[in-house]
Amino acid sequence: MEEKDQKFTSLDQIGEFGLIDILTQGFDTINDSTILSVGDDAAVVDYENEKTLISTDMLVEGVHFDLSYFPLKHLGYKSIVSSISDICAMNGVCNQVTVSIAVSNRFNLESLKELYSGIKVACKNYGVDLIGGDTTSSNKGLIISVTAIGKPSKNGFVQRSGANNNDLIVVSGSLGGAYLGLQVLEREKQVFLVNPESKPDLSSYKNLVHKQLRPEARQDIIKFFEDSDVKPTSMIDISDGLSSEIIHICKNSNKGCSIYEDKLPIDNDTIETCKEFNLESTTIALSGGEEYELLFTVKPDKLKDLEKNPDLSIIGHINSNKEMNLITKSGKNIPIKSMGWKSF
Ligand code: ADP
Ligand code: MG
Repeated sequence: MEEKDQKFTSLDQIGEFGLIDILTQGFDTINDSTILSVGDDAAVVDYENEKTLISTDMLVEGVHFDLSYFPLKHLGYKSIVSSISDICAMNGVCNQVTVSIAVSNRFNLESLKELYSGIKVACKNYGVDLIGGDTTSSNKGLIISVTAIGKPSKNGFVQRSGANNNDLIVVSGSLGGAYLGLQVLEREKQVFLVNPESKPDLSSYKNLVHKQLRPEARQDIIKFFEDSDVKPTSMIDISDGLSSEIIHICKNSNKGCSIYEDKLPIDNDTIETCKEFNLESTTIALSGGEEYELLFTVKPDKLKDLEKNPDLSIIGHINSNKEMNLITKSGKNIPIKSMGWKSF
């Protein structure tokens, strides 16, 4: 035990400024819009005559993540991805992030370096500059706050409120995987608590666990919109589940919708694992959160363009009445209710 502890550096040993120096090392900036980065009282960004998109998110240990199965490197990656996803949901591209952390003395330098290694990979993968943040202590646990800064893509930004009658409702990727990945991890944690000798075999749930621990923001879809000259009429990212997000779009746009159960994109892995957990895959697809997929509406004449992207599914359309319905496989109409994934 003693020997093992010696490998770790306590935060008291290096102090706040030492810690900031170490954590922010090697974050080179690449965007023209980044004028001044880490090291002064404020960062400077220059978007010239362009509009700037800004979004902030906070992640709290025990509320948003559980470190008993969430590797810190993945957590760093996911914290950046989830903020980039918010910029994507505005039809934007993220260029800068700030990262603020509050840490208890339970954490050492090595664990925070792990966190920042994931942050660094995400910044690299998405071409984002880390330009600042704040470092402070907490009484208990870890808190991460990320602010993402970006600009609208060349077709302009998209709000939740622009859906029109007859617009197609489209979703990227597949649904329910992230929620099931979490269920698998929670189950293994319980097994581990009972029998610490147990070694979980997660190989058959690889994709689901991956979707939970290492999600991606759909910047590729924003690029696809630009290349194919498609501008969604409304858009949102799926953080609380499809049903909750389509309700946001409908309410903000003052419209209704019809979603078709048989059009929901659900992977085979998800269907199989739902059976195992005795869950209904449609319910999970509608209510599972943390997907970071994009849900958007487009004018019906864009159908041909959308069909060129195999990762997009048309799942329904907007109505002028304010009813929001799921049309089941047997043709029944069921009102869509918000079941945010946290209330599960
Ligand atoms: P101040 O006293 O003005 O708050 P700090 O000493 O907190 O300044 O921060 C010094 C520099 O380091 C600033 O550029 C700040 O944005 C950056 N910084 C502080 N903490 C972090 C962090 N956790 N991640 C990234 N940058 C950070
Ligand atoms: Mg500070």
